[in-house]
Amino acid sequence: MSELASESRAQRDALDDARRQVAECGRRMVADGLVLGTAGNVSVRVGELVAVSPSGTPYDRIEPQDVSVVDLAGQRVDGPHAPSSETPMHLAIYARTGAGAIVHHHGLHSAAVSTVVDELPALHYYVLQLGGPVRVASYATYGTPELARSVRAALEGRTAALMQNHGAVAHGDTLETAYDRARLVEWLCALHVMATGMGSPRVLSGEELAAVARRRTGNITEVPA
Ligand code: 13P
Ligand code: ZN
Repeated sequence: MSELASESRAQRDALDDARRQVAECGRRMVADGLVLGTAGNVSVRVGELVAVSPSGTPYDRIEPQDVSVVDLAGQRVDGPHAPSSETPMHLAIYARTGAGAIVHHHGLHSAAVSTVVDELPALHYYVLQLGGPVRVASYATYGTPELARSVRAALEGRTAALMQNHGAVAHGDTLETAYDRARLVEWLCALHVMATGMGSPRVLSGEELAAVARRRTGNITEVPA
């Protein structure tokens, strides 16, 4: 077999795997309560192509062959259904980051918090797993280039963002990582809702976050005095 033929076969296998992952992840979002109905969308990048959930399709009906495949310009190259309406947002994120996968959900806590803050205060050091305090991308109609631009800006130096009056988005090298981050955003928003409902929560300072970041990168063993 020629090198080209074996390369394209490897690409086909990777794409099949990506479509399977997208279909599975949709079901997981429903099971985890991150979306209702057909809300949210998922994508996995394979080289110059992206496997993305089809638009407006209930997740329990999405099989791998239903997952759309688009090029980096957004043209559908495979799949029987129109790709997610948020494909422009997914492509804008791929264009700006080295992401391999993206998850967008409408988690209740994320959607709620996105309506009241411009940035999610750092109530927990887990924000460091997302690159720092999570920003809220300013509102724009779903599926528009304006929303794609606003999300791209909010993601600068971060692996997750809230979307004002809408939900949340996270990216990662793999779909597993992107999904973990998307769930972490929802957890942090739930924490915010709970803490602000009980009073005025203490917010971690930049210094305190830096100290945690040092622990994560260095091999620090401190014995208490
Ligand atoms: P799609 O069904 O087109 O992916 O749209 C869902 C959504 O969450 C829009 O923001
Ligand atoms: Zn949405």
